[in-house]
Amino acid sequence: MQNLKIQKIDVFQVNLPYSGGVYLLSGGREYRSFDATIVRVTTNTGIEGWGESTPWGSTYVAAHALGVRSGIAEIAPSLIGLDPRRVDRINEAMDFALVGHEHAKTALDIACWDIFGKSVEMPVCELLGGRTSVRMPIISSIYVGDPDEMRRRVAEHRAKGYIGHSVKVGDDPAIDAERIAASMADKKPGEFFLVDANGGMTVETALRMLRLLPQGLDFVLEAPCATWRECVSLRRRTDVPIIFDELATNDASIVQIIADDAADGIGLKISKNGGLTKGRRHRDICLAAGYTVSVQDTVGSDIAFAGIVHLGQTVPEKNLRCILECRDMVTTKVADGDFEVTEGRVVAPDAPGLGITPRLDVLGAPVATYS
Ligand SMILES: [Mg+2]
Repeated sequence: MQNLKIQKIDVFQVNLPYSGGVYLLSGGREYRSFDATIVRVTTNTGIEGWGESTPWGSTYVAAHALGVRSGIAEIAPSLIGLDPRRVDRINEAMDFALVGHEHAKTALDIACWDIFGKSVEMPVCELLGGRTSVRMPIISSIYVGDPDEMRRRVAEHRAKGYIGHSVKVGDDPAIDAERIAASMADKKPGEFFLVDANGGMTVETALRMLRLLPQGLDFVLEAPCATWRECVSLRRRTDVPIIFDELATNDASIVQIIADDAADGIGLKISKNGGLTKGRRHRDICLAAGYTVSVQDTVGSDIAFAGIVHLGQTVPEKNLRCILECRDMVTTKVADGDFEVTEGRVVAPDAPGLGITPRLDVLGAPVATYS
């Protein structure tokens, strides 16, 4: 086995303005721009690996952009000299250096996978278990708004080829029911809908919303309530399929969802869940349970999207709900690669590693370097 060691870690910071102006979530949360952290990990042989971690602001899950860079400062020195191909050992070293803070570990973990792939001239999806033949459907992200206006935004995404739609709700049961009905009013054969409250409902408002809906609407309810107890209580009192997102963040929580029969699937967001090594494990736990998995990230640019595509490409078709086209949500392009979406679907590229070429002029100078 060739001697391969991490020699240097550079950290870059890029602002990613939201492409739709202002994004509104339950609870009055607003998002206009996202603060991305991108790392370049360089080995003793000159191979460079790239990774990204971009939290959805500071008010979504327990993650924030300054925390990513502070966490990397804690972790990076202990990775110098380690073999980046030993991804589980890399993650043990990161977990030893810093408890939790999975979002800080994500960019480093993804960069190690990029190096691993380049070192053996294989795409990351092949190393994660091998590619399926699935042309993965991308899903839109329809923020909270006026029902008719949400219907219009669903139509806009449909016209761009989107097959899946994530419709955000969660502040008023009657208006939320209208939002769902309006968003689904023009549903086409083969389309699917996730109704995502981002933890914004109580059990009471969720039950009221569900009772106000027209009969027969075909959707999955995502992250209805903020707490475990509320979600499980709701689960016991409705036959609507439920998936967890914000509450599915690590091995323990995903095992507990299954033990509690609390959901039918999860949103696997790579930066929330700690990277591709942990994401791979979460994928396998979910497959063992017969769950569906949406492979996503909190948000991000081209490097985050590459991670989504490679992990998503390893999930069997019946278990893969969708992947998130996060590139479409931001106006900054940080890398190039063969990730063309056609008819609302995408497949992982054949290039080694992640298959991306960063735009160094967009990244600018590193804000920190560890060696
Ligand atoms: Mg969600």
